[in-house]
Amino acid sequence: MATYVITGAASGIGAASRRTLEAGGHTVIGVDLAHTDVTADLSTPGGRAAAAAAVTERSGGVVDGLVCCAGLGSLSHVPGGKLIAVNYFGAVELVMSLKPALERADGASVVVISSSSTTTQPGVPEDLVTACLRGDEAEAVRIGDEVTAIPAYPASKLALAWWIRREAVRPDWIGNGIRLNAIAPGMIDTPMTSGDDLDPELAKALDFYPVPLGRRGRPDEIAALVEFLLGPGSTLFCGSVVFADGGTDAQLRQQDW
Ligand code: NAD
Repeated sequence: MATYVITGAASGIGAASRRTLEAGGHTVIGVDLAHTDVTADLSTPGGRAAAAAAVTERSGGVVDGLVCCAGLGSLSHVPGGKLIAVNYFGAVELVMSLKPALERADGASVVVISSSSTTTQPGVPEDLVTACLRGDEAEAVRIGDEVTAIPAYPASKLALAWWIRREAVRPDWIGNGIRLNAIAPGMIDTPMTSGDDLDPELAKALDFYPVPLGRRGRPDEIAALVEFLLGPGSTLFCGSVVFADGGTDAQLRQQDW
């Protein structure tokens, strides 16, 4: 059985992923702000380093898979810069810090949670995406604060997806047997989309989000995909961004052939 690390394990998709993996007999080390195994604030470099150190100690230095779910949504009154620090740098820096522990496993897998907003939300600030991909956190946080959380959110998730695609094929990842992939969920029913701290006016807009399936996704539906991408059935997946959105992306981006 494997040892998996899940950030954002205390809620929503991360908590559902934990339940699914534990039901399969695996060991899960959760990382979150509270209510899990490792308490850490992934919005700061110090918090990320502390998380990596605690996970390395708890895992005995061998991690079979890492799932980066920790994130802030755009509809709860959060500064855009803080959102960037958690959603992009909190994921990417933890993946890089845990690389030695992933290398010691026999064919490790990393799954980050991007978002279908990357292709469906207009007006994504490109300078913010490129600042993230350059690794310039100070500049990315500055732009995030300037543009505010609503455009910063898809920018953080687009940068994350492109980071996965860029890094996945590099010899120091796939050459060491570490597969990097992303999931781009559509609207999933979690505290991020239905919590008490959402701006009520903005939250109303979510009711108009088109989902051909006719309902929001459930966290366990994304957890099933997490389990698949971590496991032996997905060994051909490397640098993939897998959309699971009930048809939103297909509906909004039809080509008139
Ligand atoms: P959620 O709010 O239920 O869970 C997010 C978790 O991240 C929480 O437990 C929270 O404490 C943790 N977190 C936030 N800031 C943190 C920090 N600084 N350090 C450590 N942990 C922190 O949300 P969710 O819907 O389960 O979201 C999980 C991931 O999926 C997020 O990255 C989100 O952006 C992404 N996503 C969600 C949806 C959706 O519709 N719910 C859609 C697309 C993508």
